[in-house]
Amino acid sequence: GDLVGLNNLVANTAYLKAQQIDYNELKKNRGSLTLPKPKKSFALQEKAEKQYESLCEQQPIGKKLFQQFLQASNSQYMAASEFLEELSVLTFAEAETKETAKQRVLAKFCQPESRSFFSYLTGEAAEKYKELSNKNFDELVMSKIREATRDFLKGKPFSEYLKSSFFYRFLQWKEYEKQKITDKYFYEFRTLGKGGFGEVCAVQVKHTGQMYACKKLDKRQLKKKGGERLALLEKQILEKVNNLFIVNLAYAYDSQTHLCLVMDLMNGGDLRFHIYDLGERGIRMERVIYYTAQITTGILHLHSMDIVYRDMKPENVLLDSKGQCRLSDLGLAVELPKGKTLCQKAGTTGYMAPEILRQENYRMSVDWWSLGCSIYEMVAARLPFKDFREKVHNDEVTRRTLEDECKFDLKRFDAPTRDIINRLLKKKVPHRLGCSGGDPRNHAFFNSISFHCLEAGLVEPPWVPKSNVVYAKDADEFGVTSEIKDIEFDAKDEKFFREFSTGAVSIQWQKEMIDSGLFDELNDPKLYNNDYDAAWR
Ligand code: ADP
Ligand code: MG
Ligand code: MG
Repeated sequence: GDLVGLNNLVANTAYLKAQQIDYNELKKNRGSLTLPKPKKSFALQEKAEKQYESLCEQQPIGKKLFQQFLQASNSQYMAASEFLEELSVLTFAEAETKETAKQRVLAKFCQPESRSFFSYLTGEAAEKYKELSNKNFDELVMSKIREATRDFLKGKPFSEYLKSSFFYRFLQWKEYEKQKITDKYFYEFRTLGKGGFGEVCAVQVKHTGQMYACKKLDKRQLKKKGGERLALLEKQILEKVNNLFIVNLAYAYDSQTHLCLVMDLMNGGDLRFHIYDLGERGIRMERVIYYTAQITTGILHLHSMDIVYRDMKPENVLLDSKGQCRLSDLGLAVELPKGKTLCQKAGTTGYMAPEILRQENYRMSVDWWSLGCSIYEMVAARLPFKDFREKVHNDEVTRRTLEDECKFDLKRFDAPTRDIINRLLKKKVPHRLGCSGGDPRNHAFFNSISFHCLEAGLVEPPWVPKSNVVYAKDADEFGVTSEIKDIEFDAKDEKFFREFSTGAVSIQWQKEMIDSGLFDELNDPKLYNNDYDAAWR
């Protein structure tokens, strides 16, 4: 009735308003935060595993502090750090700007009279790159100098950094990162979707304003249905991947009743919703190509980590507020070390590859088959071997998948689209695109896409969600979950809950600190006091 409608309106309004973050208001409410002192044992442990890559490149706060250290040290260190920065700008520059960027790097670093002229390079490298000019400054030389520069930084500068106040500051942030996460850390907003073990709702971190989606898994339901191991696997895979085209995990924690996975908020809806519920059936070709390019990049990333996704379908591809998409729901994903195979039947009817249906051994090939089905569905609003809402027995879908040819409505499918689908729907694995060498990204279907720019997040999405629309069913349409009472937890369950609840995920959390301005606010060099001393180290 009207009350339900009103409840929905209130829930949607609160959710939409939270996304317009007022940073001044936040700062006022936050009060004065200070960073904790690191524990001595923790510092020793961080140093013990002092890999340069993790501390100075992968962790966003680590990278910032190492750069600040280099900038504050001497002109040599400064030059090395600036050179790497310039190179990364150059790598992502488009063709026209690339040339000017190249000239700038040459002028700044590679002329004998220029201030920095690779003064930090020694021996062979220094000799070799002394005479750099436009002609011999190509991609190969560039990557060689990049390597030489990193080798230099990994040496003396890195070991000096580990003894500096900048690294002490880093350890303080790491201590802060380890804080215990509870329900109180977030504001909770409306339900966005429902899954097998509970609901997904929007949440906001109280002191940074960052919005996320929280997948809440009911502890009792998990135990009753034996889903505990799968939940832990999903969490472990999610925290390993860090990619622009896969939903990333920011926090894993538990409350009295739930295990919670806090992930990127995808508020543009899933692709199934876009195919069937918005406007005309199907998605415009320009969008299909763009989404498929991002999906392909995401799948390749999973495969590069020996992870097979097994649940590729439009319903699992979610759009963010900018109109970019990510793969979500890694509940069926499994890690398959080189040489290992599976034969377990898993996936969704209509998207499963012939080798799964025949219960043969398989690896990554099944994801390319499902991608073929998904492209077909985005274009035609039906599956290749199952019509939309067709009442058909699973055995018949299996028969069609194994025996039938895929048919195309020529009014909808152009030649490159038919070709890529046909190649992805090859029934024999070795013949399938993506399955025996050969890169799917080179297919003519993707001619309009520069994957290089796409991966840098530099391609404008062809469609942007409206900021005043909630792309989800009304909150009350999800129905209520019945409460389970007859389940008690034992020591083994508690141990599993602790194993799941690891708190903040480093890279995502550090990004949040930087994006929300909290890093800059707490990192004022004027606050770099002398509260660390030689004795501490
Ligand atoms: P399950 O594994 O139980 O199917 P999902 O991970 O698919 O659970 O989540 C259930 C639903 O919640 C999805 O279909 C989607 O509508 C919504 N959802 C999931 N993750 C997000 C997210 N990161 N942002 C927004 N909505 C999401
Ligand atoms: Mg799902
Ligand atoms: Mg799932």
